[in-house]
Amino acid sequence: MRARGGTPEEAPLWRAAWRCTCEGEIPNVVAFTKAETIARAADRVAEVIERECGARPEGCPWRSYVTPGVGETQNLHGQARVGDAPVAHVASLLPMHLSNAEYEAVAFYDRALRRALNARAEDEAKKRDAKRKAEEATSQGSVRRRR
Ligand SMILES: [Zn+2]
Repeated sequence: MRARGGTPEEAPLWRAAWRCTCEGEIPNVVAFTKAETIARAADRVAEVIERECGARPEGCPWRSYVTPGVGETQNLHGQARVGDAPVAHVASLLPMHLSNAEYEAVAFYDRALRRALNARAEDEAKKRDAKRKAEEATSQGSVRRRR
């Protein structure tokens, strides 16, 4: 079964596509036929991040987790989440007396997350719509052939 985000065998290809050096050198994937496909997929993800979040990631997105403030912001955002919803009620953090910078960071992260989730939902809806139209066209074609 294919895991969301790729198979373990594809991990070096994704790392190469993101120019990831977290585990040393950027993997050399010249010999892999899927490398170009995955590089294009990573590029589309970078485009969505840029469009929805306002900045294109430069290099490995996993590296950003060790950037000062990022983990703390995600932790605060997790405390503001309600139930299983991935988005937060940021105002619920007000009793914690956050600094302005902490509050703005959590609010920014929440807005970016909402935009990214909406973009993914729209993308998935377009794919379902295209698949449904293709299936309808196929079934109409088979109906016509039966006549
Ligand atoms: Zn990395």
